[in-house]
This record gives sequence, C-alpha cells and structure tokens, in this order.
Amino acid sequence: MRKFKTESKKLLDLMINSIYTNREIFLRELISNASDAVDKLYFRSLTDPDVAVGRDDLAITVAFDAEARTVTVSDNGIGMTKDEMDKNLGTIAHSDSYEFKAARAEEAAEAATEGEAEGEPKGLADLTDVDIIGQFGVGFYSAFMVGKKVRVISRAVGSDEAWAWESDGVEGYDMVIAERSEHGTDVIVYLKDDTDEESFGTFATEHGLTSLIKRYSNYVRYPIKMEVTRTRKVEAPEAAEGDDAEAPAAPQWETYTEIETINSMIPIWKRRKSEVSQEEYNEFYKTDFHDFEDPARTISVHAEGSLNYDALLFVPSRAPWDMYSKDYQRGLALYSANVLIMDKCEELLPDYFGFVRGVVDSSDLTLNISRETLQHNGQLRAIARRLEKKIKADLANMRDDDREAYERFFEQFGRTLKFGIYQSYGMAKDVLADLLLFYSAKQQKMITLDEYLADAPAGADAIFYAAGDSRERLSQMPLVTTVLAKGYDVLLCDQDVDEFCMMAMGTYGEHAVDGDDENKQPYFIKNVGADDLGLTTEEEKKEAEEATESNAELFEAMREALGDKVERVVVSTRLTDAPAVVTSEGGVSLAMVQVLKSQPGA
Ligand code: ADP
Ligand code: MG
Repeated sequence: MRKFKTESKKLLDLMINSIYTNREIFLRELISNASDAVDKLYFRSLTDPDVAVGRDDLAITVAFDAEARTVTVSDNGIGMTKDEMDKNLGTIAHSDSYEFKAARAEEAAEAATEGEAEGEPKGLADLTDVDIIGQFGVGFYSAFMVGKKVRVISRAVGSDEAWAWESDGVEGYDMVIAERSEHGTDVIVYLKDDTDEESFGTFATEHGLTSLIKRYSNYVRYPIKMEVTRTRKVEAPEAAEGDDAEAPAAPQWETYTEIETINSMIPIWKRRKSEVSQEEYNEFYKTDFHDFEDPARTISVHAEGSLNYDALLFVPSRAPWDMYSKDYQRGLALYSANVLIMDKCEELLPDYFGFVRGVVDSSDLTLNISRETLQHNGQLRAIARRLEKKIKADLANMRDDDREAYERFFEQFGRTLKFGIYQSYGMAKDVLADLLLFYSAKQQKMITLDEYLADAPAGADAIFYAAGDSRERLSQMPLVTTVLAKGYDVLLCDQDVDEFCMMAMGTYGEHAVDGDDENKQPYFIKNVGADDLGLTTEEEKKEAEEATESNAELFEAMREALGDKVERVVVSTRLTDAPAVVTSEGGVSLAMVQVLKSQPGA
C-alpha cells in the first residue's frame, strides 16, 4: 500500500470533516471531474489526429446499485495512466485540471497574438469550447464523506492497460492492474454502513440521485445518463372464450428500466436573447422556479470585460404567497462554469428587487475551496450593481411602453418598491421614485409622480397626497376637496406603507423658482392633513387668526368640552364646504398616528 503523506492525511481528515457543509455535493464533484475528463479528450481530438471522437459520443453515466450500496460515476473521457492516477488521486490539493486550464489559456493568448501577426487564425478557436471546472484538487476526496471505500478504474486514451486505484480514505491507497474495455474512468463509491435510508435518502436512492443531478449538474454540457425505473400499464389479457366472468380484469402495471439523459445541458442564459424564443424562456422559468404562470418580464444580460458573466432574470407575474413573510428567501441562483454554487445568493439583489428570480453564471468568480461560497464579495457587488441598473431600466421600459402590464406588475410588487424607499430612509429614492404609481383623485387612475407634475398648475411647488384606509373616504375628506378646488391634484394613498414612503422621500424632482433656471428647488411632498400646504395667502391667514382671537372664549369652551381629545380649536383656512375638520400638526397625519398606535408595543 502507498501511504498518503502526513500532510495529506491531515488535509484529508479536514476535507472529509469540515470543508463541505453538504455531503450530497460529492456527486456534483465527481460529475464535474467526469465532465472535465470528457472536455480534455475533446480538446485532444482537436489537436491530435490519432484521437478521433465525435462530440456526440461523449457522455457521463451515473449508476446506483441498491444491493451493493454503490454509486458509480463513469465517463468515456481522457482517462488516467497509472502514473497520473498516482499523482492526481494520491496527492491532495494537486489539480491537474487547473494546470490544463492554465496551459490552454496561455496557448490561446499566444495563438491570438501570433494569429494577429500572421493575419490568420490559428485554428484554436475551439478552445473557448472547453469549460474546465476543476481548480483546487480536492473535489474528488469529497467522495469519502459518504463512502467507506472508493475504487477508481481508469484507462488513459491511447493506452491498452487499465489500472484500479482503491482507498478507504484513511491511511493510503492501493493500485492494481485492472480491466476496462475503452478509455475513460469509473469512480465507484461504496456507501458507508451507518447510513440509514433517512439520512442517506437523498443519494442512496435512484430518485435521490436523479434529483441531485438535476439540482447541481443540470447544465453540465455533456449528457449525464442514468438507468431509471419506470412503470407502464399493460392491458389485461382477453378473457378466454367460454369464461363468463363479467367484470373486465383490472389493468396490470409492470416496471421496466430505461437509460435516460437526466440533465438538460443547454444553459439557456448563455444564449443571446435573439436566439431564444419567449416560449423557451417561459418554459425554463416555470420549470426551474416552480411557477405556474409565465414571467411578466425576461431580462438577459451578457457582460464582457474585467468580469465575464451571463445572467437571466425574470419578473414574476404574481407575487409568491410567502413574499411578504419573514421566511421569503430572495436571491439569484449562482453558477460557475455551468455548475450550481448557490441556490439563492442574496448579495446579487437589493431588497427592493427581491421579487426578481433568475440565474447568474460566471467562470471568473473566485470561489472558496468548497465551491460553496465566494472569496471576494467585491465581484458580487459589481455584478449586483449592474443587474440593479438592468432591472430598473427594464421596469421603466415597461412603465413607458406597456402601461397595462406595468399596472399589473405594480399591483403585485409596488409595495416592495415603496417599502424600499422607506427602509433605505429615502436613499433608494433615485432608483425607485419614478417607478411608483399612486391613485390620482383628479384623474381617477394610477399615475406616476412625473405625470402628477406634468398636470400641475403653473408655479406649483409641491406634490399633495392624503393618506388613509380607503380611497373612497379620502376623496371626500374636506382637506382633499379643498386642495382639489384650488386646481391641484391629490394622490390618494390607502396602503399602510404609503405615508412612510412619502415621508422618506420628502421631495421629488426639481423646478426653477420664479422662472430662474439658476435657482432650482425640489418639489416638496406634502400631506394635506398635516403640512402647511402653502396654498393660503398671508391675508387669509391673518383673517383666520383674527377670527380665532375674537372667538377665543367659544373655542376654549369647545376645547374643554372635547377634553383631551384635541390640542387646540382654531379657525381654519383649509375648508371650502365642510364646517369643521379634525387634523394634526407637524408632519404626522392622523392616519399615520393610527398606524403607529396599532404597532405592537406602541
Ligand atoms: P480538481 O477537479 O479541482 O482538479 P479533484 O480532486 O476533483 O480536483 O481531482 C483531482 C485530479 O484528478 C483532477 O485534476 C484530474 O486530473 C484527476 N481526475 C479526477 N477525476 C477524473 C476522471 N474522471 N477522469 C480523469 N481524471 C480525473
Ligand atoms: Mg474536481
């Protein structure tokens, strides 16, 4: 037996017990290795005339033997010689695949400059077609998280002997001569004994394995085949003549097995939008994100530069039922070289676009060794910033080009946008404010703040709104009808978050003061129930004050009669038809006071 080096032994122990949090990823790692092996063979075939392979013949096979309790991952890729096995599988943290990738990248760079100089391509264009996944030289050992023993049988392309490598993952490994009919590798994992169905259910069953393949390796670009059990109905045999049984015999079911390709292979997000039909996008969205409805919007992004990535984003048609609960997990699926790294990467989306679903794929990400997370969040932040801009632009397009759809969208997700402004204390206003819709008392429909301003009387310097729990009631409020009578529109806000959002915004846009373009001021957003609306003249104000003074005794008596229900009783300048109004002072409206009072602990 060849012993693992001491360092390797420690590392192996660390590996098996602490690098991965998720044992099931062993399958992802073995399939990734198989994919790399097939990729390498394909690359060899491009440059070596002795190696002839058709791309269509290349495949990966997963097999499950319930009796022997083994999981086998096979490929017909490049294979390993005895020496290669010794080096690649006997040395932990040695990645031959990484070296291969680095060498190819170098060659490609040279080819590119030479090609330029000679004015002809070097025939290495197909290099971009190789998509090596391995990089740390540890993935293989994850098999020991679930396996008590791992046996690898491999035959290198061009060699006529095969070798077997076997280890229990503790002391070392043995290598003996073996049989294999063609080039390629089988990795056989003998599952641990202590693994009952319950904890091993995910990978010690046929169904468990197929789900893991779909989950982590769905977009590996070679077919991953597996024999699966199916059932089919067989017609009951015709009743024999003379047999007078009346009821027809019940149909019989029989089980049979068949080899199926489990992964879907084509990463739809890598294709240009012009090459993919909306139906294909819809299908992908519905299957991968478990929705019954087509998405409202599909956004596809292909970024090239210092950080290359592809992204495919969807705005759902309907908010998921748990969207506004604490349990809702936002985030985009993160892939690196077609392999799933993280299901829901939160850093890729701001809270207020948390309803967006989708996928980001980049081979440039610096992954950590377990490939479960990333090393540098700066890369994520850069991607997130760009995606936020894309989402914003797409929503703005929908607002301008397809208003009906936009209003449906806003009904579902408007609350999230408004909440985003409130939660960021107005910081997110630049991104979100022009996406908001409010109900216009004057036009009796949903309008944007810009539409409000376009319709405002000349010289207007404010946006008015009223907040309460029903549009109907708000529209009859004396404070609202007064403002309307003066020719200004009032936005009727009936959602609990509205007033918080309006207050967090405080101002919107800007206008020139007295026609002086040098002197610009924002429009103030004012609550008709709370703020000084600036709609009364000094004269009117003075009149009201005088009337209050000359009736001081009457008002004092009214105040006393109402007890601590009111602060003051005064003559108002704000009323047209109604005789009296109950209102508040200092920015907080009565509706808001009610919301605050209803909060637990208030
Ligand atoms: P990595 O994939 O990051 O290089 P692994 O521990 O997963 O690290 O694998 C180590 C090395 O073993 C690979 O770089 C590769 O050279 C070799 N190897 C593993 N699996 C196979 C396989 N199925 N066919 C050929 N070579 C393999
Ligand atoms: Mg690997």
